[in-house]
Amino acid sequence: MGLIVQKFGGSSVKDRDRIFNVARIVMNTRNAGNDVVVVVSAQGDTTDDLIAKAAEITSDPSHREMDMLLAAGEEISISLLTMALQELGVSAISLTGWQAGFNTDRAYSKARIKRLDTERVESELARNRVVVVAGFQGLNRSDDITTLGRGGSDTSAVALAAALHADRCQIFTDVEGVYTADPRKIPKATKLKEITFDEMLELASLGAQVLNNRSVELAKKYNVELEVISSINPVPGTVVKEETKVEGMLIKGVAKDTDVAVLTVKDVPDVPGMSFKIFSLLAQKNINVDIILQTTGRDGRKDMSFTVPLGDAESAVSALKNATSRIGGGDITVDKGCAKVSIVGAGMQSHSGVASTMFEALFNQNINIKMISTSEIKISVIIDEQDADKAVAAIHDAFIN
Ligand code: ADP
Ligand code: ASP
Ligand code: MG
Repeated sequence: MGLIVQKFGGSSVKDRDRIFNVARIVMNTRNAGNDVVVVVSAQGDTTDDLIAKAAEITSDPSHREMDMLLAAGEEISISLLTMALQELGVSAISLTGWQAGFNTDRAYSKARIKRLDTERVESELARNRVVVVAGFQGLNRSDDITTLGRGGSDTSAVALAAALHADRCQIFTDVEGVYTADPRKIPKATKLKEITFDEMLELASLGAQVLNNRSVELAKKYNVELEVISSINPVPGTVVKEETKVEGMLIKGVAKDTDVAVLTVKDVPDVPGMSFKIFSLLAQKNINVDIILQTTGRDGRKDMSFTVPLGDAESAVSALKNATSRIGGGDITVDKGCAKVSIVGAGMQSHSGVASTMFEALFNQNINIKMISTSEIKISVIIDEQDADKAVAAIHDAFIN
C-alpha cells in the first residue's frame, strides 16, 4: 500500500499489445491497493523518427521548434495508455508535462527541471485516478515547451517520485535490470542485484543507456531508491540505492560512449589563464567538456585536447575559431571517430592494479589509447570508435568472466 511511480520506456509501449501489457501491470499495482503515477516515453522509435522528419526540412532546426516537435511523441503515449487503462476498467487520466507541473529552465533540448508543482497530480490521485504523465517534457518561463534531453523520461519519473514522496520508483524497460555491460552487445554480461547511486551515476554518464544520468543524480539527491525491471519478464531487477552490501566485485560495469569528439587547440601560449579562456568560452555556449589533456609546455607553447559531445563539436570549433585572436592558439582540429570506454566500481578504491588490468586487456587486442581519465570509482579511455566493441568485450572478460 502506498504511492508508486512506474515509468515505461519507448519499447515497453511500442504497439497495441505492449500498451495493454503496461496497462495490466499498472492495473495490478492499483488492485494491490496502491496509488499509481505512471510516466511514459514516446512509442518505440518515435523520437528518432521525429528527429529524422525535422532533418528532411532543415539541417539547422530552431531549438524551440525541435522541442515542440519531440514533445508530441510522449503525448501520443499518454493518451493511448490512458485509453487502454479505461478499457480495462481502471479510472485514469493523462497529463502533459506542463499539466503535471514541470517547470524548467530555458535550455531547449537539455532543459533542467526548476520546479515541480504537484497540485494537479495530487488532486487527480485524490479522485482515485491513475495519473499518466508525459515524460521528457516541461514548460519554461515563457510558457514554451522544453524537453529534458534524450532519455529524459527517467528524470521526469524520479522527479515525480521525489516531489510526491512516493514509496517506490520503478523504471520498467526492455532488459531485466542493470547489467555489467550492455546485455545486447555482451551476452556474457550479468545482472546486478544492486548498485549504488554513485556507481550508477558514473555508468549512466559514461554511456550505459539503461538510466539517464540526471535521473540518477536526482535520485541520489532526494534519496529515491530506484528499481530497474523488465516490463516483459516479471523477475527481480536491479535496485539502485545509497549503499549496497559488499559483493566483492572489483568493478560493477563496463560502458561505451560513442557520443564523443576530441578537439585539439594546438600551440596555445603556455601562460596562466589559458584554460580559463578556452573553457569559459565553451561554458558560455552551454557545452559540457569532459576529459582534458594538455601537453607539457615546450618553447612557451602547449597543445590542449578535450572531449565534448559530438553534437556540440562544430559549435565548439566555431566558438574557438572566433576567439583565436584572444586565445592566441594555432590550428584547431576535431576527431569525431572516437569512443570512450570506461570501467566503474567502488571496489577499485581499495585495490591496486585495476588500471593495469584494463590497459593489458586493450594491449592484448592491440588497441591504442588516446586519452585516459580516472576518478575514485572509474577509469575511462578514449580510443578509436572502430575498436570500441572489441575493447568492451576484452575488458569485460578481464574483470568479470
Ligand atoms: P527505455 O526505452 O526503456 O528507456 P533504453 O533504450 O533507454 O530503454 O535503455 C535500455 C537499454 O539500455 C537496453 O536495451 C540495453 O541495450 C541498454 N544498456 C546499455 N548498457 C546497459 C547496462 N549496463 N545494463 C542494462 N542495459 C544496458
Ligand atoms: N522519448 C525521449 C527519447 O527517446 C525520452 C525518453 O525516452 O526517455 O529520448
Ligand atoms: Mg531510456
